[in-house]
Amino acid sequence: MTKNTQAALLIASTLASSNVISAQLEQPRLMDKVVIITGASKGIGKSIAEVFSKHGAKLVLVSRSEKPLVETVEQINGKGGNAIYIIADVTNENDMQRMAAETIKKHGRIDVLIHNAGIYPLSRIEDMSTEEWHKVINTNLTSAFYAVKACLPAMKKQNYGRIVFTSSISGPRVGLPGASHYTASKSGMNGFMNTIAIELAKYKITVNAVEPGNIMTEGLADLTEDHIKKMTRAVPLGRLGKPEEVAKAHLFLASDEAEYITGQSIIVDGGQLLPESHFLDY
Ligand code: NAP
Repeated sequence: MTKNTQAALLIASTLASSNVISAQLEQPRLMDKVVIITGASKGIGKSIAEVFSKHGAKLVLVSRSEKPLVETVEQINGKGGNAIYIIADVTNENDMQRMAAETIKKHGRIDVLIHNAGIYPLSRIEDMSTEEWHKVINTNLTSAFYAVKACLPAMKKQNYGRIVFTSSISGPRVGLPGASHYTASKSGMNGFMNTIAIELAKYKITVNAVEPGNIMTEGLADLTEDHIKKMTRAVPLGRLGKPEEVAKAHLFLASDEAEYITGQSIIVDGGQLLPESHFLDY
């Protein structure tokens, strides 16, 4: 075979695979994938559930409060989706084991783990109690260890898995006064991701994160109007993000289109991290 023929074949096969990718983009991207979403009762987690359901996923929605989970499951199933819920506390290792076991019992596998549950109470270091520190670290970071450990045996057996964390720009990228526990937890989450992405690559399990900026969810309900205005002022795109805009980044990382991406994060922040100074007009 001449060099020219080899080059022509390479180009043809590359074009053929890019046609396959274009065709895939038009298809439901999670058809029949079994997806666990923690923190799915409201906010970003609920949006992830809604977006994933439109893409054919079989959903297992997890949080501590039953009522909003029941409502979300009914909404999704009412539109032809496939969702169940499991009441569980992500800070409890036994609950996380039960979450994985019940998912396997129902569906026989776990394709995707979206570990999204998290809290962000505000407290400056001088005022922060040891209990507050541990509560945030346990809820946001130790929980990721429990959830991954619980889902890992199934993913290893399948030689397939997608793990996506909801991290934050706060911690991995910037400091946030009043949130040293939170920023430590999310930076820890990214560090955890980097290492397990390497360790789990041999099982074809990818581990990635989405880092939202300021997203309008129920979790921000306690903030004053003035605080929300200041947060908005920091965003070049001129508004806070919507939960579904974050969920679409989770969708990409959970899909087979992202199969060659691991140990990475996607920032969804309306450009918030970009300006050199927020005192400048843009
Ligand atoms: P949210 O509206 O307050 O929802 C938080 C979810 O986590 C709820 O479903 C809650 O359900 C669940 N949860 C909290 N503690 C839990 C526990 N111990 N066990 C099980 N579930 C628990 O928050 P959100 O704004 O959507 O935030 C979701 C994720 O995005 C968090 O990890 C957060 O750090 C991250 N994030 C948010 C923003 C933002 O601007 N909103 C920015 C960056 C990152 P229950 O209370 O019923 O358990």
